[in-house]
Amino acid sequence: MRGALGGPRILLRRLREVMAEPVSAQDRLDRIVVLIAANMVAEVCSVYVLRVDATLELYATEGLNRDAVHLTVMRVDEGLVGHVAREAEPLALSDARSHKDFSYRPETGEEIYNSFLGVPILRGGNTLGVLVVQNRARRTYTEEEIEALQTTAMVLAEMIASGELTALAKPGAEPAIRRPLHLKGVSLADGLGLGHVVLHEPRIKVTNVIADDVQREMVKLDSAIAKLRHSIDLLLEDDKLSTSGEHREILEAYRMFAHDRGWMHKMREAVLSGLTAEGAVERVQSDTRARMMRASDPYLRERLHDLDDLANRLLRELTGRGAGTAREALPDNAIIIARNMSPAALLDYDRTRIRGLVLEEGGTTSHVTIVARALGIACVGQVENIAGLADAGDPMIVDGQAGEVHLRPPGDVEIAYAEKVRFRARRQAQFMALRNRPSVTRDGVAIDLHLNAGLLVDLPHITETGAAGIGLFRTELQFMIASAFPRISEQLKLYRAVLDAAGTRPVTFRTLDIGGDKVLPYMRTVDEENPALGWRAIRLGLDRPGLLRSQLRALLRAGAGRDLRVMFPMVTAVEEFDHAKAILEREMTHLRKHGHALPERVFVGAMVEVPALLFQLDEMLARADFLSVGSNDLVQFLYAADRANMRVADRFDPLAPATLRAFRMVADAGARHGKPITLCGELASRPLEAVALAALGYRALSVSPAAIGPVKSVLLKLDVGAAREVLLPLLKDTSGLIDVRAELRSFARQTGLPI
Ligand code: PEP
Ligand code: MG
Repeated sequence: MRGALGGPRILLRRLREVMAEPVSAQDRLDRIVVLIAANMVAEVCSVYVLRVDATLELYATEGLNRDAVHLTVMRVDEGLVGHVAREAEPLALSDARSHKDFSYRPETGEEIYNSFLGVPILRGGNTLGVLVVQNRARRTYTEEEIEALQTTAMVLAEMIASGELTALAKPGAEPAIRRPLHLKGVSLADGLGLGHVVLHEPRIKVTNVIADDVQREMVKLDSAIAKLRHSIDLLLEDDKLSTSGEHREILEAYRMFAHDRGWMHKMREAVLSGLTAEGAVERVQSDTRARMMRASDPYLRERLHDLDDLANRLLRELTGRGAGTAREALPDNAIIIARNMSPAALLDYDRTRIRGLVLEEGGTTSHVTIVARALGIACVGQVENIAGLADAGDPMIVDGQAGEVHLRPPGDVEIAYAEKVRFRARRQAQFMALRNRPSVTRDGVAIDLHLNAGLLVDLPHITETGAAGIGLFRTELQFMIASAFPRISEQLKLYRAVLDAAGTRPVTFRTLDIGGDKVLPYMRTVDEENPALGWRAIRLGLDRPGLLRSQLRALLRAGAGRDLRVMFPMVTAVEEFDHAKAILEREMTHLRKHGHALPERVFVGAMVEVPALLFQLDEMLARADFLSVGSNDLVQFLYAADRANMRVADRFDPLAPATLRAFRMVADAGARHGKPITLCGELASRPLEAVALAALGYRALSVSPAAIGPVKSVLLKLDVGAAREVLLPLLKDTSGLIDVRAELRSFARQTGLPI
């Protein structure tokens, strides 16, 4: 069939001429369908464009009734055209009527055509429309013809993506490519961000898709592939990599794909059909994406990311454009979009310009999330294909609280969010005004509010919030965001900076809490069936005393001449505490012997995170200077509900009697021994929970920076004595029918607490 008019290459060349003509968009489309029909010796050629309302509109036709153009509109679950749009794959039929999805629109007059070939118009794997040819006679479309039509569809994809067709659309029925999208993900960091999209790894835009000289393009493609293979081999030979398991695995996968004959063959075919080398890479990748995005197999989806990366590397070879850093031209109000990102990469951006972060992957405990939270950047994760759907500069809203994003939001949504942002800013200003007010309840009980911190970027929060100190400094964060074990000098530098920033306010350093969900990419992991119950925190520290010793040394040196507070995580048995404390004392002796100055006083405490410790409180308090309840872990262990598993993490209410009785045991034991007790889990950051803790006898809470204001404003109005009178009888009740949360809410309402 390709003989008569010279086949796809001639067609593409003609199309290029049409694309360059200074005619209206409709005229251009009309000419394109005529050219395609003639070239493919088809009686019909039609272009359907996917609209924002998820319907397909006939935009141009040769052969069907022209009056139907812009009038015929179909749903995507309707007819063969809908089928192609849905499946994002070509459909070739010699007897279209016998297909289950066949339906026809009388206004088009298409019922007389027996053969049907439809291909999706794809960009980045997303369907933008459908290109169709039809013949009256029953005929089989060859592979070559299908390929040729797909190649032609690329030209239409570029035309739709350029926005040229929007002028032809009725309001509310614009091409879907720019449609507003409301996408759900998971909340990773609270906050609202309004701004414009910045793609962390910008896709290389292919603008020149039609080849001048096919032979030359083939040579270009082959040489780019050869260079790509060579560069991957070089990376794999780099023996520094052998330590970092995951990286190597990815490169091995790259090498396998880069030698994949199917991939190569498809790209060469695309070049033969008249595309430039980069046009061919883009086309094959777009088809692959369309197919793989519909796969439910997580393994396949993961491979899609590898293939995306590989295609991008190939495009860089071909276009000579570098990786392109989004950092340089960062707009004000940037919303960064990435598949995933290292914490170091996020820290490289100018944080004052970032309003939000949206990730295709990312979990609540992923490292970049921890940094986003510390920086106060609204962050939503697990937003499917967001990097493929958004374009640089698109307006976007990140709702970190709800865990959702609005891409290209409609005006009303934008107005509503702008109002929310102003409301938050007003509340923030109110909290700021409380900054220097001591945290003392209405009945005169001081309840100190400390900060949870872990990174240098947290330090400005101390003065910003007016916190009493740092109640929990998570030292593992420095280790988690590093690419290798931080040297003792680096640890020392951080600890000093923290103490300097805190001035006279106390800082409680928790020793390394690694293991469980806190993994170090550079540390060999052990396979554990239940990592949360496994080799982690102080267990690891005692088994690997070298690590613990060097950290304690860094802490002791940082604390020279001032007070130092050290806390051990996940203590389960008294002996562990004794053992860890003995290591600390040995380090002190060692430093003294070598003439180093020591802290004036050293306070040593432990976290109460393992339920077993609840039954050894007297033994613990006879030894420790203080205890701090880690409610995140304590609650997960009390309820046997994994804190990282969204199915069960919020299944049990921590304000239930079971938890409150456990918390009370610790507060009471502290009072008996005259030792300070703190609670530093996330729970304390919630105002109603903070009221309950105050009522149980807690006089110090350590919370996230954003929670200091809301919690303090409640405590200032609280009558702790009255709250205790309400709460304690509830904990004695044995009916099993008590709803503590409801009772506390009603107490809050009656006493006018701002909850
Ligand atoms: C806790 O378990 O409550 C705690 C504060 O420690 P982390 O969240 O770091 O495990
Ligand atoms: Mg913990």
